[in-house]
Amino acid sequence: MSGQQRTTMSAGAITKSQFDLAADLLELEPYMRRLLRMPFRSVAVEVPVRMDDGSIEIFRGYRVQHNGARGPCKGGIRFHPEADEEEVLGLATTMTWKTALVDIPFGGAKGGVQVDPRKLSRRELEGVTRSFTRRISIVLGPYRDIPAPDMGTNAQVMAWLLDEYSARAGYTPAVVTGKPVSLGGSLGREEATGRGCVYCMQEYSEDFGLPIKDSRVVIQGFGNVGAHVALFLHELGAKVVAATDVDGGLLNENGLDVPELFAHAYRERKPVAEFRGGQTITNEELWKIPCDWLVPAALGGVINRETNARIIDCKVVVEAANSPTTPSADRILEERGITVLPDFLVNAGGVVVSYFEWVQNLQQHPWSLERVNSELREKMRRAYRQVRDLVKERNIAWRTAAYMIALSRVAEAERLRGN
Ligand code: GLU
Repeated sequence: MSGQQRTTMSAGAITKSQFDLAADLLELEPYMRRLLRMPFRSVAVEVPVRMDDGSIEIFRGYRVQHNGARGPCKGGIRFHPEADEEEVLGLATTMTWKTALVDIPFGGAKGGVQVDPRKLSRRELEGVTRSFTRRISIVLGPYRDIPAPDMGTNAQVMAWLLDEYSARAGYTPAVVTGKPVSLGGSLGREEATGRGCVYCMQEYSEDFGLPIKDSRVVIQGFGNVGAHVALFLHELGAKVVAATDVDGGLLNENGLDVPELFAHAYRERKPVAEFRGGQTITNEELWKIPCDWLVPAALGGVINRETNARIIDCKVVVEAANSPTTPSADRILEERGITVLPDFLVNAGGVVVSYFEWVQNLQQHPWSLERVNSELREKMRRAYRQVRDLVKERNIAWRTAAYMIALSRVAEAERLRGN
């Protein structure tokens, strides 16, 4: 998690402007643009919770179902102080394009509670989860809307959600993904977003002659996604020269000791900067470090015109986070010849394995880790190649090509269903 250097541009505004570019190229009718932009359903709720001191605190919660033309709505629940309605809508919209691009039978949704989970005790965190679930459970269901973890939530939170939902509807594991494996979660789900991200980089690396081995990698954000990307790239022989979290980070020109850093910062949840084995850097300094792959893996809007788009020194930006690049920064990076591999392609591995988890729950038949990883690789490879082919054919940016594929799939489903 990282709250560094954000712009005032919201995830919602970022996705809207990127949408328009692709919608123009596809010559989508005005009514279809409106249909694809507006949420199918948006629920705002109060989330009252009894705190440890006996008082009752009331938080704001949202569940936005953006589009369900291709299947049940799907997307994570974020616990974050900045998770407001607009942000959640932007993220729900991205989920629609993400599920369409990797061609899994889901639509897009997202949830959020405006709360800082780091300030909650475990009991209060459970209280927030149960209270929020009670209020949104009416719009959830295995064929309606299926939550998953996102920033500030994890498998334990999904287990409480499952328990709370099942108390009303009967045991329903397929109502939520990213559960603990012992409660019907899928093997490989925890690391799936990071793994999918690296599968994409491997494809790009082979296509464009940029070997992963010995390449220089810089990672912003060391939560679930950043930490796993670092680990898998290290295993492939890349040099992770710098990494940060919300409080700053570390630089080591010879490459950080990633397995040790993973244990320290991800498993033990200690600040990256407190790890020995590098020189400490600020979050601002990270952007200037020369590298081959720059991986933003934290909040949205961190790469922007105002602070860093002109000073970033990399060959490829790998958007492991959702909406890390603002549209104006996108244009600057394009002018500078820096490729941006877009979020809803690169970070789709999480929702792909969520889909596998849902399938395993419905069939009551768990898969092996090998099967999960090889089917994940296949899904990521296929989506990557479809985007790459369109990039080459139309000579457009990767993001625009990815949008064109996703938008046309959702528009086709809408039309077939009578819209
Ligand atoms: N929160 C993740 C995402 O943004 C996963 C969503 C899911 O698995 O439903 O893609």
